[in-house]
Amino acid sequence: MTQQTKDKIRELAKQHGFELCAFTRPHINSIDQEALDRWVDAKMFGEMDYMGEKVRTMRRKQPATMLDGIQSVISLGFPYAAPDYEKVTPQQGIIASYARGDDYHELMKKKLKALARDLDVLLGEHGQRVYVDTAPVLEHALAAKGGLAWQGKHSLSINRDYGSWFFLAELFTTADIKPDTEATLHCGTCTDCMPACPTGAIVSPYVVDARLCISYLTIEFNGFIPENLRKPMGDRIFGCDDCQTICPWNQKAKKPEIDYLKPREDTFLPNLAMLLRLDDDDFRQMFRKSAIKRSKRAGLLRNVCIAMGNSGDMIFVPQLLDVLHDNEPLIRGHAVWALAQLAADDADVQQQIQLLKDNEQHKNVLAEIASFERVI
Ligand code: SF4
Repeated sequence: MTQQTKDKIRELAKQHGFELCAFTRPHINSIDQEALDRWVDAKMFGEMDYMGEKVRTMRRKQPATMLDGIQSVISLGFPYAAPDYEKVTPQQGIIASYARGDDYHELMKKKLKALARDLDVLLGEHGQRVYVDTAPVLEHALAAKGGLAWQGKHSLSINRDYGSWFFLAELFTTADIKPDTEATLHCGTCTDCMPACPTGAIVSPYVVDARLCISYLTIEFNGFIPENLRKPMGDRIFGCDDCQTICPWNQKAKKPEIDYLKPREDTFLPNLAMLLRLDDDDFRQMFRKSAIKRSKRAGLLRNVCIAMGNSGDMIFVPQLLDVLHDNEPLIRGHAVWALAQLAADDADVQQQIQLLKDNEQHKNVLAEIASFERVI
């Protein structure tokens, strides 16, 4: 394939929002394969059992098994802007930058399919498959092999121009495209992201234990958040950007030409009280086109209760008492924990909790919660 055709592919990719584009062969280096094995063996995937499945691990290590006749991988980066913000009141929750706008997954999939159609025209008859996020593809390793980005010590991919504010996607193809040069590491002696993680999830350089990661806990994890991790979660109610925000490569990161993930007004520093009032229909309606729907109502409101408990703001007490009647044990349980945090220095709230414990009607609720976990 000529350099001209490669340039044309990059141009088409850019037209669809993929401002980063690199080419590689469908092979994973042995270092990356071994790192994956260690991570899976240590069960750092938490409750994402699919990440530990043998077949999926094998596919991650051998991308050539994903498409008959595969010759090349087109690695793509879809950048988004991470706006600066300051909280105005302690009653606001923090949502990770990428999740403040439309659902990146739906958006990228559409754009990737459109790019694939353009490549059908450009390259003629060839086989291809597109991947965004959910398939067993070791994205960061392929991106590094093609020179698109290197893996930072926080495990995310970093590009010289865009820092780590981008999503990866892949187009596997039977077209024979000359590979680009592999990326080299550029973290140097820096380790800033490691102590910046509020829950200590970066357990060693390049290794993130998902079980400790706020992104995993607030989005993928469906259960009661381990009690020792609730305080460090602070006001983060969906995902976390801390390891990226501190990274020097992100201080001068370029913004995308078009920011397809521009924040919506209601998800940019949302009011916690407004979120805790959402019923199932409200939740569905509000997050229909948003990545936040992934946490489901129970998960999001669980996170909101924790943020309220960490806020030190007594204004939330009446509402937290109200949600002790919610149908979801997950929400009730974390509301009790939040009340206990707010009550720590307040005799009135302590008294209200005692009254709750003494009240026959609430005794059943509290007993049920206690059966899930000892929270008070
Ligand atoms: S903060 Fe430092 S160590 Fe962490 S990813 Fe950025 S450059 Fe690498």
